[in-house]
Amino acid sequence: MDQVGERTGAGPAGATDRWLRHAIGKLARAGAGYLADLVVPPVCLACRKPLGVHDSLCADCWREIDFIRPPVCDRLGIPMPFDIGGVMISAQAAADPPVYDRARAVAHFGSVVRDLVHQLKYADRHDARRLFGRWLLDAGLPLLQDTDVILAVPLNRWRLLERRFNQAAILAAELSALSQIPADPLLLVRSRRTPSQVGRTRDQRRRSMAGAFTVPASRRTAVAGRNILLVDDVITTGATVEACARALKSAGAARVDVLALALVTDRTRINP
Ligand SMILES: [Zn+2]
Repeated sequence: MDQVGERTGAGPAGATDRWLRHAIGKLARAGAGYLADLVVPPVCLACRKPLGVHDSLCADCWREIDFIRPPVCDRLGIPMPFDIGGVMISAQAAADPPVYDRARAVAHFGSVVRDLVHQLKYADRHDARRLFGRWLLDAGLPLLQDTDVILAVPLNRWRLLERRFNQAAILAAELSALSQIPADPLLLVRSRRTPSQVGRTRDQRRRSMAGAFTVPASRRTAVAGRNILLVDDVITTGATVEACARALKSAGAARVDVLALALVTDRTRINP
């Protein structure tokens, strides 16, 4: 703006017009990305180091992310030690099958992913949402092929009032826009507030989450016979998504799959 002011005051009117036309033409050719760069220069979403592009991470932060890649257990989404071909089920899933059908997650819940999720959840900074959407699309492809409707794990309404947004709903909306599969945030409600799950065992979490979610009577026909993809930010023990899946299956859902940004595994179980 200062530059425009100086030039307007200095040179003859014709030169100013030409400079303005040139500047406007340049902006129009460069498009919205150029304008966005002028307003907010691109930085790494995790460490804020300057970058050449928006919605990405620097090389150092990328290296820190422990992406979950095939082969994985078809039920729990946890990595399998070797690929024997076909659909594989882990010993853990065979011994104690989850209520949901299949889970997938983008990455182990390591340091950089933890910081990014924390920003999304508590810091009111949603600038990683586009990157998260692309990651979820990639990790969720085998599930999305069968999905009729995408659903975020709902927050209790008091928690929603405190936080003003549901981080899972932000992820579900991004995934819906990228996959062109509709998201329906009203299929499930959190019928009661649940205590903090930190430090609890899987069984304790299962018990405290039992009956925490319900399908409203008005939405039961929208659930019956449908393949539903539940989206959450982090799967810790799976108790929350299991409680959601149980409510959806009781209302007649044909299939309930789960997709998350991060999965707490044996590699990341310290301080989940
Ligand atoms: Zn970085």
